[in-house]
Amino acid sequence: MDLSLSPEQDAFRKVVRVWVDDVVTPRALTNDREERFPQEALEGLKETGFLGLTIGEEYGGGGADPLSYVLLIEELGRGDANVRSIVSVHLGLVAGVIERMGTDEQKRRWLPVMATGEVLACFGLTEPDHGSDAGNLTGTAVRQDDGSYKINARKIFITNGTIAGVALVMARTGGAGSRGVSAFLVPTETPGFTANKIHGKLGLRSCDTAELVLDDVVVGPEALLGGVEGNGIRAALSALGDGRMSIAASCTGIMQACLDSMIEYTTQREQFGKKIAAHQLIQELLADTAVQLDAARLMTWRCADLKARGEDYALAASKAKLFATEASVVAANNCVQAYGGYGYIDEYPAGKYLRDARVTTLYEGTSQIQKLIIGRALTGVSAF
Ligand code: FAD
Repeated sequence: MDLSLSPEQDAFRKVVRVWVDDVVTPRALTNDREERFPQEALEGLKETGFLGLTIGEEYGGGGADPLSYVLLIEELGRGDANVRSIVSVHLGLVAGVIERMGTDEQKRRWLPVMATGEVLACFGLTEPDHGSDAGNLTGTAVRQDDGSYKINARKIFITNGTIAGVALVMARTGGAGSRGVSAFLVPTETPGFTANKIHGKLGLRSCDTAELVLDDVVVGPEALLGGVEGNGIRAALSALGDGRMSIAASCTGIMQACLDSMIEYTTQREQFGKKIAAHQLIQELLADTAVQLDAARLMTWRCADLKARGEDYALAASKAKLFATEASVVAANNCVQAYGGYGYIDEYPAGKYLRDARVTTLYEGTSQIQKLIIGRALTGVSAF
């Protein structure tokens, strides 16, 4: 089995790495402290074409393979998880679903403008009373006599919510449970659509997170994803396969950032007359982080490999997400520990790594939900 990158993938990673080190990382701490959206990085994501990396070339995107996408997300996660989240929602949660499940008209309308970044996308699944239990969501889309739909829904914690031009919104068109849910591509300038920014997050503080309110929003039949009712949860699950691979990649990047900064700090700081890296218990922190990092990266690359070969990677993505997210929290905690008191103030990055890692065990399916998915695959028995 060959785990090396192709020359193209290796060259691409080098380009991304340089860009992240030049544009993303230097502003990450200040943006976090000021809850400031990373606008310069977003402009750069458009100019470099990274924002359209996986969209098909026929729609003006980069047509990149899954491992290149994982490499991009890992590098962005290493630099700033806030910037990473813009891309993984836009590409992984929305563009991928439009490409797989949209009508030709939907692909022609949305993918070219998403590839350039002229239009950003957000993914509206979670409701205030339905998070893990998304299949029972209560937002409605009622079909009118003229074939249009009137949508009334409230969505919460939506990444890119106030800056998106299109929202993929899941709403109930009829019937109970997940089969009654449909997906709609809603232009955010439609009357009745409002996005309210959420402040005061523990981490991802410069990321755009919003509540969406859809109050009698009327969209034409062309907004119904794939032109078919009842496929909303299937669309969401398809999105979350990519999304979970992407979160695992981002956490790999966070862990790499933790390890890099731990090595830098512990080989400079001295206590008891020697570098703290010379103390065996500090080496334990470094070694544990390095081993977990390798495992997270390999599990994530396996998802990309399965996807590239056209195989089902949903279960592998759940496993990678579960492992990498939990491991990134431990790695970031190790990083704070290695910095001592300096890890507790926001002049150094360790605290930000911990706060940014912490959300990853919660969104796109909590760790508990990943365990239920894995348990169901092992036993054939569903605990949902
Ligand atoms: P709940 O579902 O209420 O869960 C609470 C606790 O109960 C958790 O520990 C959970 O694991 C546990 N639990 C629930 N059910 C079970 C069960 N059956 N067995 C065992 N334990 C269970 N959503 C979007 O749609 N789009 C986005 O772009 C988006 N971005 C987000 C960004 C941020 C910063 C955050 C914080 C959230 C975001 N979310 C987004 C929402 C996120 O996906 C949900 O928060 C997540 O799915 C959990 O739902 P919940 O918060 O309602 O928790």
